[in-house]
Amino acid sequence: MIATMIATLDGWSGFAVLWGVVLAVLLAIYFVLGTVLHLVNRRFPERRIQQRAQGAIARDIGQSMAALASIAVYVAGGLYAAAHGWTPLAPLPASWWSVPVMGLVSLLLYDTWFYWLHRAMHTPALYRFHALHHRSITPTTWSNNADSLVGAFVEQSYFLVVPFLVPIPLEVLIAHKLYDQVTGMISHCGFEYFASPSTRAPWPFLCTIFHDQHHSNFRCNYGNTFSFWDRVMGTLHPRYDGLVEKMTAPGASTPGSDRTPAGR
Ligand SMILES: [Zn+2]
Ligand SMILES: [Zn+2]
Repeated sequence: MIATMIATLDGWSGFAVLWGVVLAVLLAIYFVLGTVLHLVNRRFPERRIQQRAQGAIARDIGQSMAALASIAVYVAGGLYAAAHGWTPLAPLPASWWSVPVMGLVSLLLYDTWFYWLHRAMHTPALYRFHALHHRSITPTTWSNNADSLVGAFVEQSYFLVVPFLVPIPLEVLIAHKLYDQVTGMISHCGFEYFASPSTRAPWPFLCTIFHDQHHSNFRCNYGNTFSFWDRVMGTLHPRYDGLVEKMTAPGASTPGSDRTPAGR
């Protein structure tokens, strides 16, 4: 259905239309969800993760515009290539089995992609391309897409590449990017709403404090969707599970500071 619609778009002008639609959706999520989270956070000050001053919002929003425009190129590029038959395998039609199976495959592939490339970006040779994203030690929801164009390419070109690797239904590719945008903004919002027993060991799921610790400590929690790779590779913040347990204990109210003395 969606593949058929995209296949009717032709040439550079057709691609420009698709890019414009993808960018409009990403911008709508960025500003609407960002505003909602900003307002909700003001109502629940006790849920704030770090107590130090938050990063510069205007700076992060400005940087996010360029990064989102580039991310829309990768998402639109993946959709356009698959719909026009440029990939080795044609995208599967969405069905009762292809959506859950390929959805899970895409989540696992993306988390693997993100963990290893993100970790590589923290090596001395590559950190300069990622440093802009880490100007916010105390991130806000507006920090999610505040990244250099190289940083956005490394992490988000997954959506351009994955249709060439697996015959992912285009509906699943779109849903995955929407999920990534929403959860990424929640991961940066600086306030914890999703801590639960399933977001700590032995489960692989995450809550907001996971990526917040990445911003406050730099050398831990490189994953995106699951904690699996960080647990296997020994890069999980040593206090992550304990903090989540503390926050979900009866009578717990504030997340508290999570910064280790060693810092960066
Ligand atoms: Zn990082
Ligand atoms: Zn971040």
